[in-house]
Amino acid sequence: MLVLGGGIAGCWAAIAAAREGVGVTLVEKGATVSSGAAGSGCDHWESAATNPCSGVTPEELTRAMIADHGGYNNGISHYIECREGYDRLLDLEAMGGKIRDSEDEFAGAEFRDEKTKFLFAYDYVNRFTLRVWGTTFKSALHAECRRLGVQVIDRTMATSLLSEEGRQGGRIIGATAVNGRTGEFLVLRAGATVLAMSRPTRIWLFSTGLPGLSEFRPPQCTGDGHAMGWKAGVEFTMMEKSVQAEWSGERSYPPYGTGNTHNTWYACSMVDAEGREIPWVDRDGRLLESVSERYRPAPGQRFFIKGGGESYFPLHDYLGPDTLPVDQLLEQGFKLPFYADLPGMPELERRAIWGLMVGEEGKTKVPILQNYTGAGFDPDTHLLQSYGDGWRSGAFLPQERQLFGLPGGMMNDWELRTNLEGLFAAGDQLFASNCHGHAAATGHYAGRHAVEFAMHAADAPISAEQAEIERDRIMAPLDRKRGLTWKELNAAVARQMQHHCGAFKTADLLESGLAALDDLEEHEVPRLRAGNPHELIRTLEVMNILTNARLILHASLARQASSKHLQW
Ligand SMILES: Cc1cc2nc3c(=O)[nH]c(=O)nc-3n(C[C@H](O)[C@H](O)[C@H](O)COP(=O)(O)OP(=O)(O)OC[C@H]3O[C@@H](n4cnc5c(N)ncnc54)[C@H](O)[C@@H]3O)c2cc1C
Repeated sequence: MLVLGGGIAGCWAAIAAAREGVGVTLVEKGATVSSGAAGSGCDHWESAATNPCSGVTPEELTRAMIADHGGYNNGISHYIECREGYDRLLDLEAMGGKIRDSEDEFAGAEFRDEKTKFLFAYDYVNRFTLRVWGTTFKSALHAECRRLGVQVIDRTMATSLLSEEGRQGGRIIGATAVNGRTGEFLVLRAGATVLAMSRPTRIWLFSTGLPGLSEFRPPQCTGDGHAMGWKAGVEFTMMEKSVQAEWSGERSYPPYGTGNTHNTWYACSMVDAEGREIPWVDRDGRLLESVSERYRPAPGQRFFIKGGGESYFPLHDYLGPDTLPVDQLLEQGFKLPFYADLPGMPELERRAIWGLMVGEEGKTKVPILQNYTGAGFDPDTHLLQSYGDGWRSGAFLPQERQLFGLPGGMMNDWELRTNLEGLFAAGDQLFASNCHGHAAATGHYAGRHAVEFAMHAADAPISAEQAEIERDRIMAPLDRKRGLTWKELNAAVARQMQHHCGAFKTADLLESGLAALDDLEEHEVPRLRAGNPHELIRTLEVMNILTNARLILHASLARQASSKHLQW
């Protein structure tokens, strides 16, 4: 079995398959031990509906997720997440991941279950999202892959899918890849293949000055799986969905590094410049008197959803102070700037935010917790400034967009198979995907089903011609001494997408966008140059960014009606 992408979903797919006793090869562009969106951490595990403290069933939670998104959601993959996510969390613990407050640091907290020592986030009544020590997870998964004998090929970028008789739309029987250190070209044959390379980024936004902030997700996750899948004949859905950029980009601050109330910082108190507290209200606009109420459903509300899975038009929500537009707050007499009031929070809640959550979340342990603490920030006495509406969308233009908040992706059936035989997908590769538990559960599930397929798949030879055409395509930039660099092409694609596929879309605009991208493909791609294998990887990524931009334009052209849920 072949797994492309060694992030959360890829590692789980490899582990599930290896446990069935089949030979597994995992190809990872970076270093599997810490690669991907969750390589540096994860502070909450969503939708653990089968944990013993949960007040919701997997069925209820899945239905709520679908309703929250007006039907534009992946009911199959989220049901798998709700049904099996908790099992994967227990597996992780057995591998060495930390999921319980075993040192009793939070003994007596309202969000702790004394029996299991689980810590919960957001809805303390229904207890289906756990606070976790996610910085321990990726290395545990990597060690388990090694222990099970998975052949891990690191620093190697998958570039294309190989199909039976080299035919587009044919059964997938392998893939090609290139090593980013040596430039070695690999042809890999497999009975079944799982795609787990996350989703496109850097389509509308690209900052050469601050590459680490170009996107919320890792900037090297450029949607390579989408691009190679599209070329092979994979079906996609919802690719026309994009949202105004928020958690990223050169105009933003490092995620979780300014005062706010979202996600990791839920449900911190906020005060204005004169120390006046900005009130919390529930979904019905009822003022909340105590901090504890922020973690309880509104009267008559069954439960509420927070974390990465929350929608932009939620039915199952609670509202924090900075969800109110700033101008409304100013009209009410509040004065800028606003601050997160950690000292005003009860002690255990304060430590859960600053320490556990800001610390275990992706990209926060060193840049935020360690550096701020080193610079003298003390959560017991200091406020942390928020800028306007925090580090969210205010700073971005409507045409500066991202695939975010359950974006489009590959279509799947109940086995997490794509429309192509032999090809499965998991994690953020799937449409309407979002979080760690979803990636873990769907990775494991796809791995199991891919093994089943591989066991009965007939042998098929690789088309030498298809592999050679791909080798010539990807190696071409190495032969050029002069020409365009990857950064220039990425900037050009992003600009064209801002111009032609922003908040306002018309058929004429989208058509002219496609013409502009065709022009880049025809005249600029053949001029791309790469000085070494590392630059070659960067260059191939931007070629995929261009392909994905075209995919988005085609999807946008196909949609004939506006939809608020697709932000269209
Ligand atoms: C900062 C941050 C914080 C987050 N916090 C949380 C949280 O607290 N809770 C939560 O539930 N979710 C959280 N998420 C989301 C969660 O991390 C992702 O949903 C999850 O990691 C998706 O798993 P994945 O395997 O699909 O993608 P990833 O884990 O990103 O893995 C994709 C892998 O594919 C590799 N790859 C890409 N292209 C290629 C190629 N061509 N060839 C080979 N390999 C390739 C990448 O290097 C990467 O390792 C967070 C995300 C971010 C960015």
